[in-house]
Amino acid sequence: DHLSNKIAAGEVVERPASVVKELVENSVDAGSTWITIELKEAGLESIQITDNGAGMEEEDCERAFYRHATSKITNEHDLFHVRTLGFRGEALASIAAVSRLKLQSSTGDHAGTCLELEGGRLLSKTKSDARQGTEISVNELFFNTPARLKYMKTIHTELGHITDVLNRMALSHPDIRFTCTHNDKQLFQTNGRGDLLQVIAKIYGVNVARKMVPIETETLDFKVKGYIAKPEITRASRSYMSTMVNGRYIRSIALNKAILQGYHTLLPIGKSPISVLNIEMDPILVDVNVHPAKLEVRFSKEKELFHAIEEAIRQAFRKQTL
Ligand code: ADP
Ligand code: MG
Repeated sequence: DHLSNKIAAGEVVERPASVVKELVENSVDAGSTWITIELKEAGLESIQITDNGAGMEEEDCERAFYRHATSKITNEHDLFHVRTLGFRGEALASIAAVSRLKLQSSTGDHAGTCLELEGGRLLSKTKSDARQGTEISVNELFFNTPARLKYMKTIHTELGHITDVLNRMALSHPDIRFTCTHNDKQLFQTNGRGDLLQVIAKIYGVNVARKMVPIETETLDFKVKGYIAKPEITRASRSYMSTMVNGRYIRSIALNKAILQGYHTLLPIGKSPISVLNIEMDPILVDVNVHPAKLEVRFSKEKELFHAIEEAIRQAFRKQTL
């Protein structure tokens, strides 16, 4: 119902960046090869996401707005084998509850569906064109929750949070072409050709990309691949350390520590590196169902993973000096 969706929205939809994160994750889960993100006024005026993913049939379009409606897991077994970014089935319902939302979606076989909602209530359902994929625009976010709206920081701050989300998405999916604009000005565009170093160049600049060292290691349980910056280019904040597990950006104090230890004595005190590590593992070894925003995870073999990462980084620098 509307009230519980509005309550859940408080958890899932903290700010425009949370909307962007959830919608882009859905586009990734739908198998899109390109995703376009268009923002107005840091998403407070509008957030429009267009993808060329699988799209939805008419009845799935409506169902997508029910809380706990997910097409991604069907039983408890699935919960421990999550391969998709979403699985809680509450994002769309929550976002719709606190905005004016328009969805257009088609599986490409026949005419698509267009739904318009306001504060979670369905206003209209019409047919749309048959282009395969989905387009969702979220307008006037928090129009019906003035207290939340008041809590929003400046355009600059909100855009900063969105940029963090988009950067991480692009870095975790070099095989997807991301086009991002704010007030009709391009933020960045990646080419979707799967080259992580090129994405790094787009996000952090060519000069940073030139100073990146490849990392690659494999154990029985883990595959780690990515880039870390030479210790000569450091940052004052750890937010330039990006770690992805099975395509999902995560926050892990332990893995950050493993990366820092891998540098050993090479890093100046108080400085952090720029790093992008993609870790692949059997989903059974990682519990992503810890936190509503799914940022924190638990590893069942954290020590092994820690040592693999630390060692891989040491090795990489050893090779560099040889
Ligand atoms: P979850 O991602 O946890 O399943 P959401 O509320 O984010 O829940 O989305 C609900 C459902 O709507 C998804 O399970 C999916 O079936 C469908 N859906 C949402 N966005 C898209 C999209 N861009 N393309 C295809 N299907 C989508
Ligand atoms: Mg989702």
